[in-house]
Amino acid sequence: MTLPMVVRDDSLPTAVTIWEVGARDGLQNEATILDASTKIEFIDRLSATGLSIIEATSFVRADRVPQLADARDVMSGIARRDSVRYPVLVPNERGLDGAMAAGVADVAIFASATETFAQRNLGRSYGEQWDMFAPVVQRARAAGLRVRGYLSMCCGDPWEGPVDVDRVAEAALRLQEMGCDSLSLGDTIGVATPGQVGALIGRITDRGVPISSVGVHFHDTYGQALANTLAALRVGVTTVDSSAGGLGGCPYAHAATGNLATEDLVYMLDGLGISHGVDLDALISTSVWLESQLGRPSPSRVVRARSSSSGVDTPTHRITMEE
Ligand code: MG
Repeated sequence: MTLPMVVRDDSLPTAVTIWEVGARDGLQNEATILDASTKIEFIDRLSATGLSIIEATSFVRADRVPQLADARDVMSGIARRDSVRYPVLVPNERGLDGAMAAGVADVAIFASATETFAQRNLGRSYGEQWDMFAPVVQRARAAGLRVRGYLSMCCGDPWEGPVDVDRVAEAALRLQEMGCDSLSLGDTIGVATPGQVGALIGRITDRGVPISSVGVHFHDTYGQALANTLAALRVGVTTVDSSAGGLGGCPYAHAATGNLATEDLVYMLDGLGISHGVDLDALISTSVWLESQLGRPSPSRVVRARSSSSGVDTPTHRITMEE
């Protein structure tokens, strides 16, 4: 049986861009630190799956994020394809210098929608973070780079609780006005539900941010990541962040099961007849290979279903009337 069966829903976009974050967001939050050559192989394998955007690493201080201390080696080691963009994270001008020296054409900054997370993650107040990012964005844009603005804690904050939608819309607008050409709205601790997602995106576009520049970044802590993604697609979002094999989590949400898995996203998009350009089998074999490098199984349901003998495509037991 070939799964999934394709049934189009005309209220949804016909194409979606998958922003693959496994090599950066995923590995940054894994306990096992991979060496540069394994990361390079991972990214090269991802490049061969048809993904068009693969966030590769982060030019941050090695003592802050030891998992990604080899950003330069990774960027010089990967086989870059013309058809693929390889954005990197840069927190400040020093990070931007490193990224530009590595020949990067896409960078991303990461702001917080809440006061407490700005202080914990950036060591700056909510207000001060804009002063830190403004010169980075300005210089990057002047050099012809694309700049994405990540916004964390858009749907809930572990210290502050619920996050006001107007506060999030304000921060999103700020990133856009600063010069970010695209945004990624993060449910960093994975607590959102679909109605909340639709309302949040609606408020942001009402403030003048074009839907074409809005991406979403969900975590599956409460099993809502795919439902939230569908809610975002319904209001016109066409860029979705996900992580191969569901790599990574969030250090601030200890029960978090990680980012939305790219395989789970691809399976849903396939079923909805939404084009994305990714070869699901190639992606699954990449995640199965990575499991052996990390020493732990992938939390992706699709990886589990397709790589185990109990997968529905290869039933190992006879189905009877009783079942
Ligand atoms: Mg994430």
